[in-house]
Amino acid sequence: MKIAVLPGDGIGTEIVAQAVKVLEVLRSDGLKIEMEYGNIGGAGYDAEGDPLPESTLALAQASDAVLLGAVGGPQYDTLDRPLRPERGLLRIRKGLNLFANLRPALLYPELASASTLKPEVVSGLDIMIVRELTGDIYFGQPRGISTLANGEREGINTMRYTESEVRRIGRVAFDIAMKRNKKVCSVDKANVLETTELWRQVMIEVARDYPEVELSHMYVDNAAMQLVRAPKQFDVVVTGNIFGDILSDEASMLTGSIGMLPSASLDENNKGMYEPSHGSAPDIAGRDLANPLATILSVAMMLRYTFADEASATRIENAVKQALVQGYRTGDIHTEGTNRVGCNAMGDAVVAAL
Ligand code: NAD
Repeated sequence: MKIAVLPGDGIGTEIVAQAVKVLEVLRSDGLKIEMEYGNIGGAGYDAEGDPLPESTLALAQASDAVLLGAVGGPQYDTLDRPLRPERGLLRIRKGLNLFANLRPALLYPELASASTLKPEVVSGLDIMIVRELTGDIYFGQPRGISTLANGEREGINTMRYTESEVRRIGRVAFDIAMKRNKKVCSVDKANVLETTELWRQVMIEVARDYPEVELSHMYVDNAAMQLVRAPKQFDVVVTGNIFGDILSDEASMLTGSIGMLPSASLDENNKGMYEPSHGSAPDIAGRDLANPLATILSVAMMLRYTFADEASATRIENAVKQALVQGYRTGDIHTEGTNRVGCNAMGDAVVAAL
């Protein structure tokens, strides 16, 4: 199994180093994995003048899975848009045809007090957000900023989805629901946006193939509200690219910290890119403060979804749980009475638990 390792920028290098330690343990226990490093984001721009160098895309395409840290940093914010780190991320998703983004929001009992919501609202929370990743207003043409005849500037982006794009993400969501609590909530804005009216129609069609799964629909504004009012009503949430971007960050905060949340982006053959849900956190980068658990849990997702190795995935998840039970906490999830540690020591705690 070949894994492309792309640490990226900011805390990316620190958190990926911990995930690699975990992979090394599995390798020494007999798992056949090969890892090769590549540049992406600002690191790609610095080294090769491109946020997604050709060599990195080729490496990712030749690998079975990609482990990514994070990209971005204030020093790149003034670059031309195509050279910015985030563009590298959009391009690799597109280049690998990663259309399905899975973001679990799961609350570990040990962290119930780290959530800003009352423990009774969030304890036992286990949501899977399935976000479409290659379409929608992030990619639709026309786009850009132009100047009108009267001299005023105008910004344009285009929301669009084809029926087949909606159908394939719908299938991913229903397949996952079949392995969970058999509930799918499709989030749209069908009362205002025609693109999402089509989204709703197609979801209803997909649901016919899954008679055991209960499909419900919710407008995105209501979904944003329900996520903080009564989040446990959700099992699988499926939605488009922009709504999913926002709702999955909101759901992540229910669990206490974005530093706990892994993600997987899959193509049609379960090849995937695995990365934490958070960004490069320039405010804490290089200071051994980052929480590496989201990245380590992303490795667990890699083993489960790409390598179909449920035993190793569970082994990693249990090691993370054990490190939390033992009281280890990075700053973002630290509460009184627990043992505050840095990124590296948290990685060591998981390795020890493994
Ligand atoms: P961010 O997720 O990097 O940080 C938001 C806040 O959460 C910060 O206070 C940060 O310190 C904290 N945080 C994030 N991850 C953490 C971790 N593992 N442990 C402890 N604390 C953590 O989002 P942002 O500040 O909006 O963006 C910073 C940069 O990251 C920008 O350049 C942005 O474009 C980029 N970004 C990249 C990705 C990605 O690579 N997938 C995603 C989002 C943002």
